[in-house]
Amino acid sequence: MISICKKCSWHVEKLDLPEEMLLELWALMVQESKLYAVKKLKDEFGIDHGKAKGVVTHFNPEFGKCHECNYSELDKEYIECPKCKAFNYNLKIGPPFNKDFCEVLEYKLDFSQLENENIKGFWCDGIDHLPMDIKSLSADNLKQKKFIKTKARIGKDGQDEYELTIYFGPSALDNYINRKNLNECIPEGSSDEWINIDPERKQVEIQLN
Ligand SMILES: [Zn+2]
Ligand SMILES: [Zn+2]
Repeated sequence: MISICKKCSWHVEKLDLPEEMLLELWALMVQESKLYAVKKLKDEFGIDHGKAKGVVTHFNPEFGKCHECNYSELDKEYIECPKCKAFNYNLKIGPPFNKDFCEVLEYKLDFSQLENENIKGFWCDGIDHLPMDIKSLSADNLKQKKFIKTKARIGKDGQDEYELTIYFGPSALDNYINRKNLNECIPEGSSDEWINIDPERKQVEIQLN
């Protein structure tokens, strides 16, 4: 393992944390909340302040992309950037339930096929790729629960906040565990076979293959 960052001379701290915790750290980094990330490492994971700052500095949230320069082909975990020599954790932690998938899913949610007068003209204007419970993104939790709950904006103007529950069928679960793209697991059939909407409760359920 690389023991020192050649860019800033920091002594690399091994991150021996369970997937759930790494996901929480990752989510904060995706949202660029570095201060909260340092606080979480200190308060919840018991890492001292100096080390926590170092970890956060070298934690690149997007696999492949150096935190220090524009290099984007880092191909393994715990790696030195060949361009700027900075150490990157480059963890394969970003889940298959991600921004790209949520954008594809958003366009596939066709409410016009559902025979319900109350939802006439409804459309979806965005699905949050960070669910309410970040821990639900860990493969172990998904294997057990088989769903992810997040928020989506839906309605005539596409702006009401709905609770969206996405149920994972066998092939979606398999793709998730093997970190493969989930797009192919979105059903092709008519909406009433896999989308269920309750406009009064502001809830939507969908069933992936
Ligand atoms: Zn460094
Ligand atoms: Zn770099």
